[in-house]
Amino acid sequence: MNKRIIIVGGGFAGVECASKLVKRMPRGAAEIVLFNSENHLVFSPLLAEVVGSSINPLDVVVPLRQLLPRVFCRTEEVQMVYPESNEVEYLSEYGQAARMTYDHLVIACGNTTNLNLVPGMADHGLALKTIGDTASLRSHIMQQMERAEVCSNPDRRGWYLKFIVVGGGFSGVEVAGEINDLVRDTAKYFRGFTEKDVNVTLIHSRDQILPEISSGLRDFAAAKMKRAGVTLVLNARVVVATPEGVGLQDGQFLKGATIVCTIGNASAPVIERLGVPKDKGRVTTQADMRVTGSENIWAIGDCSMTLNTYDGQPSPTTGQFAERQGKQCAQNIIRVMKGEPTRPFAFKQLGELCSIGGHSAVADLFGLHLSGFLAWFVWRGIYLFKLPTWARRVQVGFDWAWLLLFPRDLAHLRTRPTDRVSHAYYKAGDFIIRRDDPATNLYIIERGEVEVIRATPKDPGGETIAVLGPGSFFGEKALLSDAPRVASVRARTPVELLVMGKNIFNQVSSALGSFRDALGQALNRRTIDVWKGRPQAHDLMSRTLLKEVLEPVPRPLLTPATTFQEVSQAFVEHSNEFFYVCGEGETLEGVVMMTDLFRARDASAAATTPVSEFMSKNPVALAADDSCAVAVEAMREYRLKSLPIVEKKENRKLVGCVRIRRLMGFVLKHTLAGKASNSAPEQK
Ligand SMILES: Cc1cc2nc3c(=O)[nH]c(=O)nc-3n(C[C@H](O)[C@H](O)[C@H](O)COP(=O)(O)OP(=O)(O)OC[C@H]3O[C@@H](n4cnc5c(N)ncnc54)[C@H](O)[C@@H]3O)c2cc1C
Repeated sequence: MNKRIIIVGGGFAGVECASKLVKRMPRGAAEIVLFNSENHLVFSPLLAEVVGSSINPLDVVVPLRQLLPRVFCRTEEVQMVYPESNEVEYLSEYGQAARMTYDHLVIACGNTTNLNLVPGMADHGLALKTIGDTASLRSHIMQQMERAEVCSNPDRRGWYLKFIVVGGGFSGVEVAGEINDLVRDTAKYFRGFTEKDVNVTLIHSRDQILPEISSGLRDFAAAKMKRAGVTLVLNARVVVATPEGVGLQDGQFLKGATIVCTIGNASAPVIERLGVPKDKGRVTTQADMRVTGSENIWAIGDCSMTLNTYDGQPSPTTGQFAERQGKQCAQNIIRVMKGEPTRPFAFKQLGELCSIGGHSAVADLFGLHLSGFLAWFVWRGIYLFKLPTWARRVQVGFDWAWLLLFPRDLAHLRTRPTDRVSHAYYKAGDFIIRRDDPATNLYIIERGEVEVIRATPKDPGGETIAVLGPGSFFGEKALLSDAPRVASVRARTPVELLVMGKNIFNQVSSALGSFRDALGQALNRRTIDVWKGRPQAHDLMSRTLLKEVLEPVPRPLLTPATTFQEVSQAFVEHSNEFFYVCGEGETLEGVVMMTDLFRARDASAAATTPVSEFMSKNPVALAADDSCAVAVEAMREYRLKSLPIVEKKENRKLVGCVRIRRLMGFVLKHTLAGKASNSAPEQK
């Protein structure tokens, strides 16, 4: 055997290409090697059916080795392609890089979902791309129903039963329809809620869902989904996802415990690293599917931008096109090997099919428009027939027949790890921890600020007792004592957190001495009540607002562009211990101390290095309307002698600062001198 054809990707395009090469090439003419990250092909058109418990997860995957017995299938991920030496690099068994040469290379690695396009989506949204995603989503939905069943708070129960799907294309519509059917059909088995409590919302950025199909079918699909209970939110863009729900561009916030994200297609990492011409992240090809400028590298399926010479349009990213390109690519490779001319890609689309839930679908087949039950019946028939093996066809056919006689399966296996380190994103005002919640996580603040709130008999709504910012953590007290939370924590600004599960917390804190020490110190600081035996002082500090004891902003104010040399000069000329760094409109962006200056010098900062590169960014700041008691707690927490004060927590416009000395003097003046009165003191 002297030739080798490598295919990267075992989806519709790669599998079809490999299968046609095997069938049409004389035996032994070339070795065919297929690299795929998983050992199976995922039949994605039926993924939504798995979410809705209509079929079992394993029924939509087909093992590549059984599907392609004469192909060398390798479950390895290709990292790099080296066109100049005709080699691919992949991670071998022990994680070492290894290379393999090729005579022809077919890139068929599809695309991926980039949840990072919307802040918070990667942490709080669920994707629908792999079988793992689907199983997690199904399990998550079941979990929400179980939680709603035993939840005594009606608001929270309603929240568990709100399901949000982002994206009104084929996969968004199909999964919204399936979730709606699943939850409504099975609500009768629960005592704590009824079908009326369920809410499934589909959010789409345009004025109509399913932009790919004819307007008549689109209208039918929209009307049918609304009748089935799905709320359509059109012309709406999701701008943020939080644990509570999603925020829209117009400022609306939709609450829901489940967020499914079907938007955000991105190139596979190997494509990003590939130095070939691309269009919108897809590899551009010549008409015969060879990568532009290449003789022996081909790109097919979702990762390629190939013109369909049948209608002069770029091929859409559908399974239908991927399969057809795979087939024709195999034929063209064989032609090249025989020294014959290749043929341009040309394909007449057969039609579009989309299931919309409630035993209904819309179909556009050979120009014939079908909708409703008949379309759904055709949809099922076609996909059953298109499944790659008879074994899967029989299994799926059996699952579907089963559902005609018996209810959907409500059992679920927990597929998400119960304990892990993850990220979380909260918008201002969201509760991160509520009093009496069980101790489950430690939270480390990466960006933004939170406030710790304790309900008192005087103020059942809660009094802010501390403000924490980046680098600080909370939640440790309940974990260490294994007791319920005694205070609530609320996001004061948009906040990003690192969340460490209880088991990981226990393991790290028992193994790492310095972590344990830091926890111990924090615990000491936070449990020692400085106000003990000084009720008058506490009362005074709680009633006095910071604006009443404000000192002027230390001058000069620096801007982020102030250079290292100018900062050094400022320290020489002024007796300040620090300088604030403000952007436009005196918005607080950072603080720089003498130690920051020395650290920057040690790191070889140049005279022109801007202060924004070595200042402490976004320092914790209190608002003029916060109480002096909160300022005392913040200064203890951060071991600071002063704090910047901003006009409002939302705008961070610097209005002054407050020093511990001044606060102590204020307390002494009003308590020792016997001047503390029950009314707030006069403004200074
Ligand atoms: C939920 C959902 C529903 C859909 N419904 C329909 C439908 O009804 N009709 C329709 O026509 N289309 C549908 N599609 C689209 C269709 O699935 C895709 O167009 C099709 O799968 C593209 O095939 P592909 O071979 O290009 O890529 P994929 O099927 O995505 O396969 C690519 C494979 O390459 C692997 N891979 C990636 N990078 C590497 C690497 N570096 N090394 C090794 N392996 C790698 C991946 O793991 C994957 O297995 C749907 C898609 C989704 C997600």
